[in-house]
Parts: sequence; structure tokens; C-alpha cells
Amino acid sequence: MKCTICGKEALIKLRHYNLKLCKDHFNEFIEGRVEKVIKKFKMFGRKNKVLVAVSGGKDSVSLWHILVKLNYNVEALFIKTAKDEIVQNTLEIVQKNAETLSSKLHVVDATEMFEGLSPQQIAFTLRRPVCSVCGVIRRYVMNKFAYENGFEVVATGHNLDDEAAVLLGNIIHWQEGYMERQWPYLPKTHEKLVPKAKPLVFNYEEDIRTYARLNGIPHVQEACPFSVGATSLMYKRLLRELEEEQPGVTLNFYLGFLRKKGEPRYVVEELRECEVCGYPTTATKCSICRLKEQLDKKMKKSPT
Ligand code: AMP
Ligand code: ZN
Ligand code: ZN
Repeated sequence: MKCTICGKEALIKLRHYNLKLCKDHFNEFIEGRVEKVIKKFKMFGRKNKVLVAVSGGKDSVSLWHILVKLNYNVEALFIKTAKDEIVQNTLEIVQKNAETLSSKLHVVDATEMFEGLSPQQIAFTLRRPVCSVCGVIRRYVMNKFAYENGFEVVATGHNLDDEAAVLLGNIIHWQEGYMERQWPYLPKTHEKLVPKAKPLVFNYEEDIRTYARLNGIPHVQEACPFSVGATSLMYKRLLRELEEEQPGVTLNFYLGFLRKKGEPRYVVEELRECEVCGYPTTATKCSICRLKEQLDKKMKKSPT
């Protein structure tokens, strides 16, 4: 098998692009697609301060490596969502990457906002789904940290398969409002809302996994135990099956959405400041302050 670009021995066959590549050209290809997305959606330039949210999984850790390699002005944030061994081990792997990259890593303990409670404990107490509580907390922490520390954009590791799966779910349920929020770059719509960027949206999950393996990038096997059975995983599985029959279909599906949708209008919702913490919300109190209030009520009712 020969590399389509240089003719040397190819290591990787990418059916969805009909390409065979050697290691160097594979790396160049993946990194080039990241650069292309950043430019196409005007996400950030080399002078902007970028905060990459790193979970320890292959996607966000690889994104961190790629942004450093492409000479972007990037620092990383790891959010501790619990005080257990799994989170501690993940943090150590993330720290190892920071050392190799000589890139600054910030760590925020999100349990401190809730007197040591993890999203899991909060969700069980309030009988809410763990993933939604965890998501609310992570988004709030990412934005607050970025805003308070002068970052101009927050980059996350969402890949093509993630975005295509969410899109499929939104189409099946005709949630057009949610589609608006699926654009790969969400600019500032409030003084305290830092723009969000997803530079991996043109890269297949499988290719990022290969990138991490080929380049010996230390990471954890994600699959949070609470995401098992999540509907988004079902849509991902369906797309993977389709992809077996029609290589490239996931990318075409997602690109079709970008073409059809065109640049969103961004005046999605009227934002005001939370009357407790001052961060943007559509209600009088933000979701975090409401969570705190509900927890307080519950604790008062059943003190242990
Ligand atoms: P997920 O919702 O788990 O698929 O994560 C989506 C993205 O959010 C990841 O690619 C990371 O960029 C970011 N992220 C998730 N968990 C964390 C965390 N604990 N700390 C920092 N960033 C995170
Ligand atoms: Zn080559
Ligand atoms: Zn608030």
C-alpha cells in the first residue's frame, strides 16, 4: 500500500476520503483540516488567547497537541468533577501532556461550588440525569474561568461523529432551535459569554483515535459510565453502520447541514445577568444558581 501523496509505504487507509497515507502525510492531513476549520469559521487567530477544555479523552488531548503544533496561543483547562480516583488518574495523564507540550494547564475543582458534591451526587439528590447536571456545571466553569482570565475563546474536542450524531437527533425530533446552537463557532452574544469553538468538526472520530495512537499521545478511554445508553451514542452507532455501507456519508451529512443552514443569526435568545452570580442566563437566575437553591431546599428538608 503506497501513500497517495508521496508514494512511500502507507500506514493508514482512509476509506471515507479514499486516501492511503504515510504517518507524516496523515498528520499533515489531520492538522490541515483543523487549520481549515479555524480559518473557515473565523474561530481565532495566532494572537488570540485560546483556552482548550481538556477532559483527558483522545479528542480534546489531541486538539491541544494540534493547536500547540500549529503555533496557536493556547493554554488548557481541566475541570475536576469529583474527588475520586478516576478523576485523579485522569488529571495525572493530562498533566503528563502539559509537560510534554510545555503548555500551561489550569485545574478547577468544580465540586467546590457545591460544598464538595460531585455532579453525580447532585443529580441523585435532585433526581436529575447525571449527564445534564454535569454538562451544566462544566459549561459554566469553562465560561467563567475563560472570562475571568482573559481568554478570547474556549475550544472543545467535539469531533465530526459527535456533531453528526447530535444533528441526526435534532433532525429526527425537529429541534430547529438546537440546530442553531450547533454551528462550529458561537461568537460573543453577551459581555460575559466567551465564544466557543469546535476545531475538530471536520475530523472523523476514528481518525483522531489513530492520530493519538500514532503520535503516542497519552489519554484516557473516555466513555463516562453515565453516558452508556445515551441517545446520542445510539445515533453515533447508526451513523457508523451507514458509514460502513457508504464511506464519507457522515461528513457529507454534516457538510450539507452547514451549507443549507448558512451562517446563523445569533440573536438566539435574549440574555440577561443572573441576579445571584451575574453570569448570563435567559431566566432571572442561571442554571447553576438554581441547582444550588434546589440542593439547599432538599438538604433542609432531609438533613443527614
Ligand atoms: P463531552 O461532553 O464529555 O463529550 O465533552 C465535550 C468536550 O468538553 C470535550 O471534548 C472537552 O473539550 C470538554 N470537556 C469535557 N469534560 C471536561 C473536563 N472535565 N474538563 C475540561 N474540559 C472538558
Ligand atoms: Zn506520504
Ligand atoms: Zn448564577
